[in-house]
Amino acid sequence: MIQPVLDPYALAKALSGLQLIDGALRPPASGRTFDVAHPATLAVIGQAADGDAADVDLAVAAARRAQPAWAKTRARDRGKLVARCGELLMAHVEELARLTSLETGKAIRTESRVEAGVLADVFTFFGGLGSELKGETIPFHPDQLIFTQREPIGVVAAIIPWNVPLLLMALKIAPALVAGNTVVVKSAEEAPFGVLRVAELLQQILPPGVFNLISGDGPGAGGPLVAHKDVKKVTFTGSVETGRIISRAAAEKLIPVTLELGGKSPMIVMGDADLDLAVAGAVTGMRFTRQGQSCTAASRILVERPLVERFVTALKAKVDAMVMGDPLDERTDIGTIISPRQLGTVRKYLTIGRATPGAEAVECSAMPTDPRFAEGLFVRPVIFLGLDRSSALFQEEIFGPVTMIVPFDSYDEAIELANDSDFGLAATIWTTNLHRALDAAQRLEAGFVQVNQNLVVQPQLSYGGVKTSGLGKEASLEAMLEHFTHKKTVLIRVR
Ligand code: ADP
Repeated sequence: MIQPVLDPYALAKALSGLQLIDGALRPPASGRTFDVAHPATLAVIGQAADGDAADVDLAVAAARRAQPAWAKTRARDRGKLVARCGELLMAHVEELARLTSLETGKAIRTESRVEAGVLADVFTFFGGLGSELKGETIPFHPDQLIFTQREPIGVVAAIIPWNVPLLLMALKIAPALVAGNTVVVKSAEEAPFGVLRVAELLQQILPPGVFNLISGDGPGAGGPLVAHKDVKKVTFTGSVETGRIISRAAAEKLIPVTLELGGKSPMIVMGDADLDLAVAGAVTGMRFTRQGQSCTAASRILVERPLVERFVTALKAKVDAMVMGDPLDERTDIGTIISPRQLGTVRKYLTIGRATPGAEAVECSAMPTDPRFAEGLFVRPVIFLGLDRSSALFQEEIFGPVTMIVPFDSYDEAIELANDSDFGLAATIWTTNLHRALDAAQRLEAGFVQVNQNLVVQPQLSYGGVKTSGLGKEASLEAMLEHFTHKKTVLIRVR
């Protein structure tokens, strides 16, 4: 076992070239690896195992072997073990936060440490739900006893992205494990180390094979994992395109999938809103601290026309006051973009926006001046004015620090604009008019609607999108029951 280390560079090195299969860290069958860089400097910090179908076979076989005994463990005892995982992870928050900042470029104070804490909390939350894996009795006929029971699905594959790797992995594996499944996770190419450290730590508590983790690229490792005959469920968070590929592969095997995909979340600011509250909500909602790399980013801010100027001025002032720089420095508010490829995508949209007639790009904050970060993947957050629904920036997910303020003249127009999107993940409305707030909650086409606040995903509250934002929910008791068990109906003739 790797000793706890607070030097993330040392930890990344120690985890290099490894995956976690059947209770042990091991290199991939092929021996191949690929470099992982720190986005703030582009210095190589280690190598990820380039897993492929051979590693998938080993990991799924281990999960399959472990599953019957895990499923037979009393549900509350499984829950207790998962809750203990939460305690252990809480004791390692600092190290996980540093490692996450190193590999993703997210600022430690505003992002990574918060994420590592929520990771632990998700395990604690689901750990308490073992006793909730209940069925029902059904009064179908006086001569029959009919009941339902919740049974695990088997081996679950979880494919995760790089933006919030610890949390998004936890939302999948904690409920899957409590429900009696065993799991194989495929980490994202850009962020392999933090989740691998979690997998390694949890071997102190979980039986071997219950939780396995492989790394590698999407088609090479994720593809064979989804297609594996013994994988009976896939849960995925990532892009719409990959979600479609995974959904097709799962359909071929007729297995269930949960998909948490993109978003283009609207934020409606009515003229009667508390301006300070709404502006603060735009800062957190847009995830400026994470360079907007969030599927719920408030990337379409719809503001009632008389308020627009004051809103823009106040929002710019707030983002200007945020410090962009070293992700591992406590003073930093905003870190980097994850990868050169993602930075290229962000720049492409900035170019489209700037070239739009009548558009204005309001740049905020300031680039870091430290020469150590000359190669870093930093970009100034931008608030666009003068774009409308015909813009690609209004319709497509950017996954970067780019938002827009779009004026509207009536409440109905705001709702119509908000719903003019293929996505439907999250939405907010900011108003002091109770009727409007309640009406909007009904009419907004999104899976997660908030009024006068912009909380991030919370364990206990079902989270997931409609339209192309996904299928199914995560984070709640219902999510565990609906997505990680199947319901068996038992009919017994009693007389
Ligand atoms: P992004 O473009 O931001 O990397 P993706 O949806 O491509 O988003 O990636 C999310 C996760 O899906 C990553 O772990 C990635 O490796 C994986 N992935 C990508 N393509 C495939 C695929 N064809 N099959 C299975 N997993 C894939």
